[in-house]
Amino acid sequence: MIVFDLTCAAGHRFEGWFGSGEDFASQSARGLLSCPSCGAAEIERVPSATRFNSGAAENVPAVPAAQAPQGKDPMAIAQILYARLVDQMLSSSEDVGKAFPDEARRIHYEEAPARAIRGEATPEQHAELVDEGIPVLRIPMPSRDRFS
Ligand SMILES: [Zn+2]
Repeated sequence: MIVFDLTCAAGHRFEGWFGSGEDFASQSARGLLSCPSCGAAEIERVPSATRFNSGAAENVPAVPAAQAPQGKDPMAIAQILYARLVDQMLSSSEDVGKAFPDEARRIHYEEAPARAIRGEATPEQHAELVDEGIPVLRIPMPSRDRFS
């Protein structure tokens, strides 16, 4: 999957997910793309620094372009954006598994190198970390094979 930043004639910016650059060109040529804000069909790619982390590309849920953010269903868009956020968090953090509560504490008290970590914590462990003022975030993981 590849993410392109797109813009319509009215200047609305949005993202489209495609299987490849050719996929985008093909859909664009056939007039299948439209702006989610105003529905305009004149869509152009805009240069951007944001690119999907290609290292996780094969794990990205297969989202048909027809359901990509240029669609009109807010829930579908939210799910895509959420999956993307999770992927970014996963690709930029170290998995410490069940050692998460201990490691989060060690980092907080500067006993371990500061870095982004992720792992597992029970609701009780999570509450203790919050009570100690340690910045932790609970996120529900989309069900995907690599998390099982
Ligand atoms: Zn527009």
